[in-house]
Amino acid sequence: MSSPEIETLTQALAKLPGLGPRSARRAVLHLLKKREAALGPLLRALEAVNDKLTSCHLCGNVDTSDPCGICADPRRDARMLCVVEEVADLWALDRSRLFPGRFHVLGGRLSALEGIRPEDLSIDLLIGRIAAGGIDEVVLAMNATLEGQTTAHYIADRLESFPVRLTQLAHGLPVGGELDYLDEGTLAQALRARRPVS
Ligand SMILES: [Zn+2]
Repeated sequence: MSSPEIETLTQALAKLPGLGPRSARRAVLHLLKKREAALGPLLRALEAVNDKLTSCHLCGNVDTSDPCGICADPRRDARMLCVVEEVADLWALDRSRLFPGRFHVLGGRLSALEGIRPEDLSIDLLIGRIAAGGIDEVVLAMNATLEGQTTAHYIADRLESFPVRLTQLAHGLPVGGELDYLDEGTLAQALRARRPVS
C-alpha cells in the first residue's frame, strides 16, 4: 500500500490523457526511484510552466508568453493564417513544421447540439485580424467532422467580402478525423494539398 501522498500523485497522473492507473503507477515508481534525475526536473518544469502560463491575446494559443512564441516569431509569414478549432490542433499542425504562417484558435466549433454559437468562439477576433489587413491566405483547418465543416462554411461566408484567398485542408483526412490524432505525414499531406474553399 502506498502512502496517501503517493496515492494522490498516482491518481492525478492517471487522469492525464494517454495514461491510466497502470501507467501512472509505473510513472510514479520511476519518479520515486529517480528522485534526482526525474522527480526534481519534472517538479521544476511544472512550476515554471504554472508560473508563466498564459494564453495569447492575438491567436488564442496557450504558452508561457503573450504574444505566444509563434505570434512573436518574425520569421513566420504574417501573410498566411491557419484557423483551427483547438490549441491541440495548432500544436499538431505546428509539429508538422510545414505551415510557415501564423494561427488562429477558435476555441471550439459551432454545434447546434451543444448550443455553441458563433459568439462563443473567437470568430469576431479572427475577422478583426483579417480586417486589419496584411493577410493574403486563410487556411480553414477545421476537423473533418460535420461540426468542423459547418464551422468552416460559416467562417467562409463571413470572410466573403475580404480580399483573401480561402483554402481548406485536402480531403484524404479521414472522415470524422480530428487533427490532433493524425500522424504528421497525413497532416503534412493535407496541408500541402490544400485547396480553395468551394
Ligand atoms: Zn499567438
